[in-house]
Amino acid sequence: MCADLADSTDASEAPRGKHGRAPDVFRRGGWMRMREYALDDPVDFAIVGTGAGGATLACRLAEAGFRVVAFDAGAWWRPL
Ligand SMILES: Cc1cc2nc3c(=O)[nH]c(=O)nc-3n(C[C@H](O)[C@H](O)[C@H](O)COP(=O)(O)OP(=O)(O)OC[C@H]3O[C@@H](n4cnc5c(N)ncnc54)[C@H](O)[C@@H]3O)c2cc1C
Repeated sequence: MCADLADSTDASEAPRGKHGRAPDVFRRGGWMRMREYALDDPVDFAIVGTGAGGATLACRLAEAGFRVVAFDAGAWWRPL
Protein backbone atom coordinates (compact mmCIF):
# COMPACT_ATOMS: atom_id res chain seq x y z
CA MET A 1 0.00 0.00 0.00
CA CYS A 2 1.32 3.45 -0.84
CA ALA A 3 -0.02 6.45 1.00
CA ASP A 4 -0.81 9.71 -0.70
CA LEU A 5 2.43 11.70 -0.55
CA ALA A 6 0.39 14.89 -0.62
CA ASP A 7 -1.14 13.92 2.73
CA SER A 8 -1.02 17.02 4.88
CA THR A 9 0.61 15.19 7.80
CA ASP A 10 3.96 16.84 8.54
CA ALA A 11 6.80 14.31 8.58
CA SER A 12 8.43 16.39 11.32
CA GLU A 13 5.49 15.59 13.57
CA ALA A 14 5.29 11.84 12.87
CA PRO A 15 8.70 10.79 11.56
CA ARG A 16 7.94 7.13 10.86
CA GLY A 17 8.45 5.08 7.72
CA LYS A 18 5.18 3.25 7.14
CA HIS A 19 2.24 2.98 4.75
CA GLY A 20 4.53 3.25 1.74
CA ARG A 21 6.28 6.46 2.65
CA ALA A 22 9.13 7.71 4.81
CA PRO A 23 10.34 11.15 5.90
CA ASP A 24 12.28 12.90 3.13
CA VAL A 25 15.61 13.79 4.71
CA PHE A 26 16.17 16.58 2.17
CA ARG A 27 12.86 18.41 2.70
CA ARG A 28 11.87 19.34 6.23
CA GLY A 29 8.41 17.91 6.90
CA GLY A 30 8.28 16.21 3.48
CA TRP A 31 7.74 12.58 2.52
CA MET A 32 9.19 10.19 -0.05
CA ARG A 33 7.96 6.83 -1.28
CA MET A 34 9.17 3.75 0.57
CA ARG A 35 8.79 0.21 -0.75
CA GLU A 36 7.07 -2.17 1.68
CA TYR A 37 6.87 -5.96 1.70
CA ALA A 38 4.40 -8.37 3.26
CA LEU A 39 5.72 -10.79 5.86
CA ASP A 40 5.72 -13.66 3.35
CA ASP A 41 7.18 -11.74 0.39
CA PRO A 42 10.59 -13.02 -0.75
CA VAL A 43 13.44 -10.49 -0.54
CA ASP A 44 17.10 -10.55 -1.54
CA PHE A 45 18.57 -9.03 1.61
CA ALA A 46 17.48 -8.60 5.23
CA ILE A 47 19.72 -6.12 7.02
CA VAL A 48 19.73 -6.01 10.81
CA GLY A 49 20.84 -2.64 12.13
CA THR A 50 20.36 0.45 9.99
CA GLY A 51 23.03 2.74 11.34
CA ALA A 52 25.77 4.25 9.23
CA GLY A 53 26.79 0.91 7.74
CA GLY A 54 23.46 -0.91 7.38
CA ALA A 55 21.49 2.06 6.08
CA THR A 56 24.11 2.87 3.46
CA LEU A 57 24.21 -0.76 2.36
CA ALA A 58 20.40 -0.94 2.18
CA CYS A 59 20.28 2.21 0.08
CA ARG A 60 22.89 1.03 -2.41
CA LEU A 61 21.34 -2.44 -2.73
CA ALA A 62 17.86 -0.96 -3.28
CA GLU A 63 19.20 1.48 -5.87
CA ALA A 64 20.77 -1.50 -7.65
CA GLY A 65 17.33 -3.12 -7.85
CA PHE A 66 17.49 -5.65 -5.03
CA ARG A 67 14.55 -6.27 -2.75
CA VAL A 68 15.75 -5.16 0.68
CA VAL A 69 14.21 -5.04 4.13
CA ALA A 70 15.97 -3.43 7.08
CA PHE A 71 15.37 -3.77 10.78
CA ASP A 72 16.49 -1.51 13.57
CA ALA A 73 15.99 -1.74 17.31
CA GLY A 74 16.50 1.94 17.97
CA ALA A 75 14.59 5.18 17.59
CA TRP A 76 13.96 6.97 14.29
CA TRP A 77 16.52 9.75 14.24
CA ARG A 78 15.66 12.66 12.01
CA PRO A 79 18.80 13.66 10.10
CA LEU A 80 17.65 17.28 9.88
C1 LIG B 1 28.56 10.91 19.73
C2 LIG B 1 29.17 10.31 18.47
C3 LIG B 1 29.60 11.17 17.47
C4 LIG B 1 30.18 10.65 16.29
N1 LIG B 1 30.57 11.52 15.32
C5 LIG B 1 31.08 11.06 14.17
C6 LIG B 1 31.46 11.96 13.13
O1 LIG B 1 31.36 13.18 13.25
N2 LIG B 1 31.98 11.43 12.00
C7 LIG B 1 32.12 10.08 11.83
O2 LIG B 1 32.57 9.64 10.76
N3 LIG B 1 31.75 9.21 12.79
C8 LIG B 1 31.24 9.66 13.96
N4 LIG B 1 30.88 8.79 14.94
C9 LIG B 1 31.10 7.36 14.72
C10 LIG B 1 29.99 6.78 13.87
O3 LIG B 1 28.73 7.15 14.41
C11 LIG B 1 30.14 5.24 13.86
O4 LIG B 1 31.44 4.89 13.43
C12 LIG B 1 29.13 4.60 12.94
O5 LIG B 1 27.82 4.99 13.30
C13 LIG B 1 29.27 3.07 13.01
O6 LIG B 1 28.37 2.55 12.07
P1 LIG B 1 27.72 1.14 12.27
O7 LIG B 1 26.81 0.92 11.10
O8 LIG B 1 28.79 0.12 12.51
O9 LIG B 1 26.91 1.20 13.64
P2 LIG B 1 25.73 2.17 14.05
O10 LIG B 1 25.67 3.41 13.21
O11 LIG B 1 25.84 2.34 15.54
O12 LIG B 1 24.43 1.33 13.71
C14 LIG B 1 24.07 0.16 14.39
C15 LIG B 1 22.54 0.09 14.33
O13 LIG B 1 22.13 -1.23 14.71
C16 LIG B 1 20.99 -1.13 15.52
N5 LIG B 1 20.93 -2.35 16.31
C17 LIG B 1 21.78 -2.75 17.28
N6 LIG B 1 21.43 -3.95 17.75
C18 LIG B 1 20.32 -4.32 17.06
C19 LIG B 1 19.49 -5.47 17.09
N7 LIG B 1 19.72 -6.51 17.93
N8 LIG B 1 18.44 -5.54 16.23
C20 LIG B 1 18.19 -4.49 15.39
N9 LIG B 1 18.95 -3.38 15.32
C21 LIG B 1 20.00 -3.30 16.15
C22 LIG B 1 21.16 0.14 16.31
O14 LIG B 1 19.91 0.66 16.76
C23 LIG B 1 21.84 1.05 15.28
O15 LIG B 1 20.90 1.83 14.55
C24 LIG B 1 30.32 9.26 16.12
C25 LIG B 1 29.84 8.40 17.14
C26 LIG B 1 29.29 8.90 18.29
C27 LIG B 1 28.78 7.96 19.37
